[in-house]
Amino acid sequence: MELIFGTHNPNKVEEIRTLLPSHYKIKSLSDLGFDTAIEETGSTLEENALIKARAIYNTFHKNSFADDSGLEVMALGGAPGVFSARYAGSQKNSQDNMSKLIQKLMDVENRQAQFRTVIALIIDRKEYLFEGIVKGNISKMALGQNGFGYDPIFIPENHTISFAQMTLGKKNKISHRSKAFQKLVDFLKS
Ligand code: IMP
Repeated sequence: MELIFGTHNPNKVEEIRTLLPSHYKIKSLSDLGFDTAIEETGSTLEENALIKARAIYNTFHKNSFADDSGLEVMALGGAPGVFSARYAGSQKNSQDNMSKLIQKLMDVENRQAQFRTVIALIIDRKEYLFEGIVKGNISKMALGQNGFGYDPIFIPENHTISFAQMTLGKKNKISHRSKAFQKLVDFLKS
């Protein structure tokens, strides 16, 4: 079965390929030479994942899926959420985003947060959503060098180190994205 993954991110493509049996052929947007920007105008992760999956499905008329992720901080009512990439502005800079978040939580005791991924899958025009969540806490300062985005300030539940202090393999075992990917894989195999 061929599936188009609405992403240009080679790491995400690699992650899903390793989880699926080899008869699933995953094509990324880069593989297809598709570089038209898809505007993520939704106000939820679900909406944005669907916007991307629909745009790809309607362009290629092939079964497709797309993901959207964000960091949801409880004391901030779920912010930055769908705005995670551009929390501190359209430059989409991770250092700026983390500084803004640390500042916002300066005197806040409740540091609970979660990363959440939503995957939208379209097969033969039917739409399906899959969700993956990892709960944790926001640290008071950046810790570690690995990963990307908010990894240095996110300490997953039952751990004492941040995502950025873990190897990618360790992070991928417990991450929001891998949980959502696993649900997609279980569905495809069933
Ligand atoms: P995307 O939907 O995977 O592009 O994620 C949107 C934004 O959420 C990213 O630009 C990051 O700021 C944040 N984010 C999502 N997943 C992670 C993660 O695993 N670690 C750190 N930040 C993440």
